[in-house]
Amino acid sequence: MNLLPFGKLPAHRPRSFVPATIDLGDWPQIAPLFDRLETRAAQAKTGAEFERWLLDWGELSAALDEEASRRYIAMTCHTDSPAAEKAYLHFVENVEPQLKPRQFALEKIYVAHPQREDLLKIRRGEFHEPQTEKDNGTRSARPSETRYGVFDRDVKNHVELFRPENVALETEDAKLCQQYQKLSGSLMVNFQGGEKTLVQMGRYLEEPDRALRQEAWELVAKRRLQEVEKFEDIFDQLIDLRERVARNAGFKNYRDYAFRLRGRFDYTPEDCSHFHDAVAREIMPVVRELQAERRHQLGLDKLHPGHLRPWDMAVDPKNRAPLKPFAGVGEMVSRTQKIFDRLDGGLAGGFRRMQELHLLDLDNRKGKAPGGYQQNLSESRVPFIFMNAIGQQRDVETILHEAGHAFHALAANEEDLYAYRSAPIEFCEVASMSMELLGNEFLEEFYPATEANRARRTHLEGIIGFFPWMATVDAFQHWIYTHPGHGRAERAAAWLELMDRFGGSVDWTGHEAARAHLWHRQLHIFLHPFYYVEYGIAQLGALQVWANSRRDKVKALADYKKSLALGGSRPLPELFSAAGCPFRFDAATIKPLIELARNELAKL
Ligand SMILES: [Zn+2]
Repeated sequence: MNLLPFGKLPAHRPRSFVPATIDLGDWPQIAPLFDRLETRAAQAKTGAEFERWLLDWGELSAALDEEASRRYIAMTCHTDSPAAEKAYLHFVENVEPQLKPRQFALEKIYVAHPQREDLLKIRRGEFHEPQTEKDNGTRSARPSETRYGVFDRDVKNHVELFRPENVALETEDAKLCQQYQKLSGSLMVNFQGGEKTLVQMGRYLEEPDRALRQEAWELVAKRRLQEVEKFEDIFDQLIDLRERVARNAGFKNYRDYAFRLRGRFDYTPEDCSHFHDAVAREIMPVVRELQAERRHQLGLDKLHPGHLRPWDMAVDPKNRAPLKPFAGVGEMVSRTQKIFDRLDGGLAGGFRRMQELHLLDLDNRKGKAPGGYQQNLSESRVPFIFMNAIGQQRDVETILHEAGHAFHALAANEEDLYAYRSAPIEFCEVASMSMELLGNEFLEEFYPATEANRARRTHLEGIIGFFPWMATVDAFQHWIYTHPGHGRAERAAAWLELMDRFGGSVDWTGHEAARAHLWHRQLHIFLHPFYYVEYGIAQLGALQVWANSRRDKVKALADYKKSLALGGSRPLPELFSAAGCPFRFDAATIKPLIELARNELAKL
């Protein structure tokens, strides 16, 4: 029984190390391959042999990665299939835990290997032939200049940060994160005659009836406030664990450790702080303007006091019915295809190929997991897109976004080093967010002109409005992890200061406690510390790609595709500059981009 939407995929390269008939869900068959890699590393006496070893290791990793993806895809497409669930859980429980220590052992072997120095002399575009004596002076070349520089930097970093005593602490961290998710997911309210989850309550904030919106919002806020102590308890324990993990690894605080752990070699906490300042200076005035406009459109300026309240932010300010871009998924795909046809022949061909290979599962139906994602099939070197489209404008944004990720995977598929077929998250999101903006130029494939403009407007307002929230969440975490031993009241005060700085002119009177604990809703703060600024950095890159395309469409697209093809083989600043974007997030970089967005909004 095939539970996958696609059939047998064509191999991108024939395997040279992993046996063709192996069952990659059966650990006893996999373990001998790791044994062989360990033995062969010891036998590698030349740079060329060592390089071959590296590629074979990558071949095995890609094959295992694809096996995990196939089982994940089958499970999410058929949550009601016991066979799919069993196959997925088998891999998670029996293969992955065995895999991690074996992969880490190979990383340690790599870092200590006598041929590593030779490997690092290989320049870009060269294979197997390290330079001779006279080039020895370039041994310390920057990661950007040598073929394996970025890979080497990342593996070395991973090995250096590992502390055996942190394994148990990380397990504790994961358990607390699970408690947070359980607590958040368990919260229910009784509204309009039935039990509702807080996620379900979100849709009432889009209702035109203001009193109804307020009632729904207040009910949710009250429910959350009942659990304040539990959220705070979980978070205090998480901070304590994280500070211990950082100290064990030799860092003076968790912030500095998190920067290294996330491989942030190309920007510093100070750069992030400048980013926050730039958002305050360049973006907040536009946010205030848009809020004033919303207030006027909602007719609040005729009331007294007539302020925008927290429950006024998600409703359509002109009280219009939701946009209806398409009736069925077939229509969504063919219209999206037309957008890509108009945008670029190469990208359009990629999307067509994904349809031919059945690499899209987009309709919402019973037995499918919620949400949307793009997943690489690492050995076949093709992407897969999963969605639950129901005919909203959000679906159009999502398919363009995920297609951007898919184009990234397709562009990098000639890269033979497994680790280089994917890029750091800061740049992955440039690929996807740029595609939202570039694709939006052709939204008339879905709508008459006025509705297309309405969709563009909502999208641009969303982009502008995201920056202050990103700055709030990021700056808050910088504060938390550089103020050891702080108390809960101090923490709430630090948060409120940021809300004052980045919240604009929304009136929270009567809901001060909800405002002081609003961060409890942001799961990243609990689950993925410091992982948020990436989206801000990427959004700036995407705005830059869009700005470039306004000046010279052909060149902007050519640069975009060229940068995607680099995969993860270059440091971030080089990936950005290949795409035609400066890797900077200061006021001077942001100013012209926000001006462009603002001018565009004025036209819509
Ligand atoms: Zn994305």
